[in-house]
Amino acid sequence: MSAKTQSDSLRTLPADEIRQIMWRFSDRYAHQLLIQSARGVARGPVARLVASGARQSHDWTPEKATLLQAFDEAGLTSVHLDPAHGGFLDGPKNLALALVAFELAWVDAGAATCSLAGHLALAPIHERGTPEQRAFYMEQTRPAQPGEDRPPRRGAFCLTEPIPYVGVETGLLSGKVRIAEWKEGQEPILQVEKRGRFITNMGFANFVTAAVDSGDERVKGSCMIILEDTDPGVFDRGTPTRKLVHQLSSTNDPIFSLRVPASRIVGGYAIEKGTIVPRYTHGAVIDAVFRRTRVTVGLMTAAKLLSAVEPILRYHRTRFRGGASISPGSPRYELGLQQREDAVHRLVDIWATGEASASIGFAAARLFDDMEPVERRKDEVLAEQGVEGPRAQMRALGKISQDALEYLKQTALPPHRRDPEKTEALGANELVRYVLLDSLASVLCPAVKLWNTGHGSTMMREAVSLMGGYGITEDCPGFLGYKWMDSQLEATYEGPEAVQRRQLSVTMANEVFLEQFRQWIVEMRGLANQRPGTGACTIASAMQLWLWTLTHLRAASDANGAALYQGNRQGVTFPLADALCWLLAARYQILDVLELESRSAEQSDLAEVAAGYVSFFSDLCHVQSARAAGEAGRICAELVFGYNRHPAWNDPDAQGSGAEEIDEVEGVIPGFAAEARLFLDVIEADGTHAVKAGPCVKPAGLETFQRLRARLDACLAGSRLAKDRAAEALTKVMIPEAPDYPA
Ligand SMILES: Cc1cc2nc3c(=O)[nH]c(=O)nc-3n(C[C@H](O)[C@H](O)[C@H](O)COP(=O)(O)OP(=O)(O)OC[C@H]3O[C@@H](n4cnc5c(N)ncnc54)[C@H](O)[C@@H]3O)c2cc1C
Repeated sequence: MSAKTQSDSLRTLPADEIRQIMWRFSDRYAHQLLIQSARGVARGPVARLVASGARQSHDWTPEKATLLQAFDEAGLTSVHLDPAHGGFLDGPKNLALALVAFELAWVDAGAATCSLAGHLALAPIHERGTPEQRAFYMEQTRPAQPGEDRPPRRGAFCLTEPIPYVGVETGLLSGKVRIAEWKEGQEPILQVEKRGRFITNMGFANFVTAAVDSGDERVKGSCMIILEDTDPGVFDRGTPTRKLVHQLSSTNDPIFSLRVPASRIVGGYAIEKGTIVPRYTHGAVIDAVFRRTRVTVGLMTAAKLLSAVEPILRYHRTRFRGGASISPGSPRYELGLQQREDAVHRLVDIWATGEASASIGFAAARLFDDMEPVERRKDEVLAEQGVEGPRAQMRALGKISQDALEYLKQTALPPHRRDPEKTEALGANELVRYVLLDSLASVLCPAVKLWNTGHGSTMMREAVSLMGGYGITEDCPGFLGYKWMDSQLEATYEGPEAVQRRQLSVTMANEVFLEQFRQWIVEMRGLANQRPGTGACTIASAMQLWLWTLTHLRAASDANGAALYQGNRQGVTFPLADALCWLLAARYQILDVLELESRSAEQSDLAEVAAGYVSFFSDLCHVQSARAAGEAGRICAELVFGYNRHPAWNDPDAQGSGAEEIDEVEGVIPGFAAEARLFLDVIEADGTHAVKAGPCVKPAGLETFQRLRARLDACLAGSRLAKDRAAEALTKVMIPEAPDYPA
């Protein structure tokens, strides 16, 4: 590589103690142990299965089934259990589950999905089940302890139905629940008819949490219901899905026709005027479930990107070794393909994307951990106030939003201008705290699922391409080709990208979120002052541009007079949601590096080592910020200008630069004057009298956007130098001689 700025600061790939600080679990010993257990399974039995060709079939084979025991023995099956039900982790478990999925997906996301699907099956019961349901099914899924002789029961989550029913549209249920028998004074017995499509774990599940609608006037609305393989009737696992991906998980199209007691309705029910009224609709249950589990899926793709770094480094560096004319010590021997700038730059992009997706993903997982006790308190406080049921809660919380906004406004003021009593009272209000956290969670969850998996799979293709032909073989070190394919499933299941964009287009416009977003712009500007090398300034400018664009689009109409920002205008709302995700991921990436910097400075044993990582990761932040800002700028510009009709240069009504302004524009765009004069000559020869020229250069009313955009472009300063430094570091970083899992 050409001599550029010096950076040999990155000595080795980041070790666990660095990640523990960045992802904030250095004080959580149980999480650290869990990672070691999950890693042992991933790089042992899982890797051996993949290397031995177990992914060649979509059937659930005895070899694949050995994974379940490996999960049990490593404690992975019990992660979601509270100590009262035989678990070993107290408190919320979102971060713990995310770390397990991350470790497993580092090697194979199918194995990660196999582990996760069991937790997904239980999630409706965990989130909305009655205390009895929770106690029973948690106990049932706990692996046998020493001295116990019973197989653990395993679950599946069954929402999706054969076409034309449930997929993205979760309300289109064909599964039905009817009353089969209801004897006076006894519990009703229900008849459940449900067919599933693409149901994970179905090859071996003993129970299923299934979404069904009422098929009986004596049952109100929809619900989720627990079905067991021992219930009377048909529990047909169905045929295995002929999937191309995640072959270490089991996926089938099952058929159920079963009689079950009404006590299996998740969350219970009431009897009102002779009608069974489930406490929760299926929609309420799946909302509570997916808002947590989708974050974990996003982290699976992040793990793949980061896992690609070492195999690519090794492949590139050793690519030409062994050639007769290539002697040790020569650049070709030592650097191999790393002599080529493009190869190293692209690896920098992959690594930077992996960092950003891990940062936003783990931030979201931690947020859900923080939120869990607050959410429980919210339910209790509202119940004490007599507010019950989702709709009544929503109305009550809508009013609290004003308090939350007031709190945010107060905290944004300099301390001497705040109303201390009001700020303290609002800050102590549990409902205000819930509304604040909820507004973030409602953005972060879909953002992680959307950006990590969607953009992540695009970047996995880049990773594959850097391995040349090997990339698309079964022998590819790090199984990168499989990981590329698998990432597309992560972008699809638990709601494809359209679902996440649809949610974001609502939640990102929530004023409580936007007020926090405004504060983040100030935060990023402040950071830019102290740490300009992180790209924080670029992100602040891009955030400002995004916010201006959202505000503009919410008020603007297109050239035909139709409002732009509205639910069915996905061409407007969806790209804007994408732009936001880029910015959020880059922000969390910067925050993690700053955390590493400040925390490692307190630990003398780490300070020196960490300095190298801080410097390298700061460069990655700068690279990622520039890319994120570029994407956001492009999307915003398309949306702001793209719905105006392009005026003709000689349109007398067009508000553009007049001929007299050509020289002014020339000052900004050299060569513009010559081009414009040529054009005016053509028009005049045409017989038209040109009075206006270049209306698209100075569109009326959008000067602010243009100023913000110009500022954003200027903020890209230094980002390519950062990329050069990071690339140089990649040519020097030490890696182990051999991978730590088989190929
Ligand atoms: C291997 C695998 C495992 C799975 N495991 C499970 C499981 O355990 N349990 C379970 O219940 N399901 C499971 N699924 C199902 C999965 O969640 C669904 O496939 C997914 O939610 C999408 O539904 P669909 O395939 O019907 O897509 P469709 O609903 O047909 O949508 C197809 C595409 O159309 C577009 N689209 C659809 N609706 C909209 C809209 N409103 N706005 C804009 N665009 C739209 C989107 O681009 C979308 O991707 C699994 C799927 C696979 C492949």
